Amino acid sequence: MSSSTRLDVVIVGAGIVGLAHAWAAARRGHRVRVFERSPRAEGASIRNFGMVWPIGQTPGPARDTALLSRDRWLELGRLSDVWVQPTGSLHLAHRPDELAVLEEFASRGPALGYPVQLLTPAEVLRRSPGAQSRGLLGGLWSPDEVAVNPPQAIRTLPGWLHQTLQVRFDFRTVVTQVADGRLLTAAGETVRYDRAIVCGGADLESLFPAVLARSGLRRCKLQMLATVPQPAGWRLGTHLASGLTLRHYANFSICPALAPLRARIATETPELDRLGIHVMASQTNTGQVILGDSHEYDDAIEPFDTAEIEELMLRELRLVFDLPDWTIASRWQGIYAKHPDAPVFAHEPEPGVALRTGTGGSGMTMAFGLAERDWECWGHGQNWDHGQHGENCR
Ligand SMILES: Cc1cc2nc3c(=O)[nH]c(=O)nc-3n(C[C@H](O)[C@H](O)[C@H](O)COP(=O)(O)OP(=O)(O)OC[C@H]3O[C@@H](n4cnc5c(N)ncnc54)[C@H](O)[C@@H]3O)c2cc1C
Repeated sequence: MSSSTRLDVVIVGAGIVGLAHAWAAARRGHRVRVFERSPRAEGASIRNFGMVWPIGQTPGPARDTALLSRDRWLELGRLSDVWVQPTGSLHLAHRPDELAVLEEFASRGPALGYPVQLLTPAEVLRRSPGAQSRGLLGGLWSPDEVAVNPPQAIRTLPGWLHQTLQVRFDFRTVVTQVADGRLLTAAGETVRYDRAIVCGGADLESLFPAVLARSGLRRCKLQMLATVPQPAGWRLGTHLASGLTLRHYANFSICPALAPLRARIATETPELDRLGIHVMASQTNTGQVILGDSHEYDDAIEPFDTAEIEELMLRELRLVFDLPDWTIASRWQGIYAKHPDAPVFAHEPEPGVALRTGTGGSGMTMAFGLAERDWECWGHGQNWDHGQHGENCR
């Protein structure tokens, strides 16, 4: 297929990965149809922090894809009614071992392409009034991060894509099969395609279950909270992450000081490791502060949220953040697919069909870059392996 051919593209799933692929395809002039089983998207893409988080990606292709994605979010903010706010991010240190990790990352990061800077407590508090000043030892500033309001973004995008690029959306439509140039729906419709992209998120059973069973993907449940809108227009200023977060994102693995930090947390507060708790905060355009999170995997996943997790999260949150109003307005859980090492899952089960999943806490950060890389390569009749086997089209 030459890059100038107008293709019939079908996409399964109207989460961020499906929407990003729809935008990238429609911009290239293809005819795009998106199938979503729910009346409107209700998966991980509306349940997250809304943190576009390039700092969490490892140096090289993953971070480059995240930065490309970040640029697309900013473009989307200019072109549409989607709220997109450059905020940067602060990792806070309230313990000496946390500060040691931040110091190491501040000295190694810039050479690896992270424009980070170590801040004193006074400088941290100038950037964010949401940092807990009691016991604050310092912070790591990164200018790259961006905030979006997940439900607002994910529910605005379909209308915008339809109006500006004639993308067709079929909500309330379950796809039951994608093979040999034909997509089947549960209602009995058959749709022919040149290219199909299956972006089913944490659904590992409905389509291509054998491939997904071998993929290394595991399901993970997270508990989340959001406060009431903060009073008098109070703003967090930037995304905030805690010392506990340093053990969560892969970028900090370049720091030898991480091992003693992990050991201290495992000994002092094993309940945080058992429930995968680390704490972060972001703020939406409505003034609410989104707080989380915890991680439970596979068979440990229950549909019921627990008070134990909520109490532990709030205990840790209050140690490191300082909000004018801690009243919790809503509670929810999200489920994502997690891969042991890849920030996205990419697989082509047959020619013309691609499976794409934003794995772990990275889908909002990676989706637009992932889609751009894919469509660049598909324009040359090739595939992009997203760091799994190579770093280019193959
Ligand atoms: C609590 C939480 C916090 C997070 N925080 C962040 C964050 O701050 N930053 C970040 O970068 N990432 C974050 N993530 C990760 C991010 O939200 C996900 O990686 C991303 O949303 C996954 O997008 P997706 O499109 O792959 O899946 P989803 O959003 O789940 O979308 C998949 C869609 O496919 C549809 N579907 C599935 N099968 C079919 C079928 N057969 N027929 C029709 N439709 C189908 C589903 O209904 C669903 O709407 C977080 C995730 C969670 C759960």
